[in-house]
Amino acid sequence: MSKSIFQKPFTQQEPIPDSAIERVVEILKTGRLHRYNTRGSQDSEASLLEREYADYQGAKYCLACTSGGYALQIALRSIGMQHGEKVLANAYTLAPVPGAIHAAGGVPVFVEIDQDWHVDIGDLEKKAEKSGAKYMMLSHMRGHISDMDAIVSVCEKYGIVIVEDCAHTMGAHWKGTRSGNFGKVACFSAQTYKHVNSGEGGLLTTDDEEVAARAIVHSGSYMLYQRHGTPPSEEVFRRIRLDTPNMSGRMDNVRAALIRPQLSGLEENIRRWNTRYRVLEQGLSKSSNLRLPERVQHEAFVGSSIQFQVNGCDPSRIPDLVKRCAERGVEIKWFGGAEPTGFTSRYDSWAYLGEQPVLNATIDVLLKTCDLRIPLTFDEEDCAQIAEIICEEAATI
Ligand SMILES: *Cc1c(COP(=O)(O)O)cnc(C)c1O
Repeated sequence: MSKSIFQKPFTQQEPIPDSAIERVVEILKTGRLHRYNTRGSQDSEASLLEREYADYQGAKYCLACTSGGYALQIALRSIGMQHGEKVLANAYTLAPVPGAIHAAGGVPVFVEIDQDWHVDIGDLEKKAEKSGAKYMMLSHMRGHISDMDAIVSVCEKYGIVIVEDCAHTMGAHWKGTRSGNFGKVACFSAQTYKHVNSGEGGLLTTDDEEVAARAIVHSGSYMLYQRHGTPPSEEVFRRIRLDTPNMSGRMDNVRAALIRPQLSGLEENIRRWNTRYRVLEQGLSKSSNLRLPERVQHEAFVGSSIQFQVNGCDPSRIPDLVKRCAERGVEIKWFGGAEPTGFTSRYDSWAYLGEQPVLNATIDVLLKTCDLRIPLTFDEEDCAQIAEIICEEAATI
């Protein structure tokens, strides 16, 4: 019997909603693309997005900016991180995270992860104590939310301010609290492969008025900072505006118009992602050569991608599995490659950071970790077929 081949592309997004396209065309016809190019006291599209996202997130303040990575960078600056200061960061993350720490002048101190890709709390506490770091950049990588009670408690004990990287947890919860509402600041991405799609885009949320004011001025507001969706009071800006550099990274009205209608469809899309995730999870769990960590009940995650570990062979044979699946149309990313390809996630591939202490537990789990995107253009049958192909190939590794 010939082997089945999966036909759909793993990078195909759904179309942008018609209402967003219509609004974008209206804006294009006015020529008023820049967020401060408004008439009179009219709200710009970017301001409207800020108000709506703050509301969705349940945060006091929201800033729309150019990218998730940019939001992370100005988040660190806005909480007062100074050049050369240390920033704790879980070692399982994506290249823009160490890049943002580096760009803001920080020095990452990587923390080990456990077999379920969560922050190793013991290692966090050890490094918090030893490094004296005052900041933590917590990346909810691939939507896996660590034990937030434990992280918050360690950080409180050592006076560490948390920035949450929610690029993969927009819309997710942990024990009923929205991901992003545990730390001082949260950063989200609207880049094509995340949960809303404006090509590029970032959102930063906080309840802290001074952090919000600094982030707005950093983002390139000139002295037009009051023309934002959720600005703190004038008095707050007066305190910080002259010693906060402009690092232009504003969001334009076209991108904001692309995102706004997608927010109202987000809950439904989360449901659709999770349905697909469960089909893949169930299918892949049939193979005794694969391990799928059980998702904890109180983690209301968004299944926009799925990770599994290949346990049935030496990791050096995983590239062969990846190759065989690719020949059958299934695009798997392996996080264990020593040579960075595609998007990189192994801390030791970021050589510009200099020599890093070896993180044995993290390397061990990444060596076995495979990753699959779940675009919403796949239906449940597609997901079942993908799981079947992977299981068939994993049976003979
Ligand atoms: C995509 C991503 C980011 C950054 O988002 P951009 O908008 O692409 O800059 C940050 N962290 C993680 C984990 C990501 O996957």
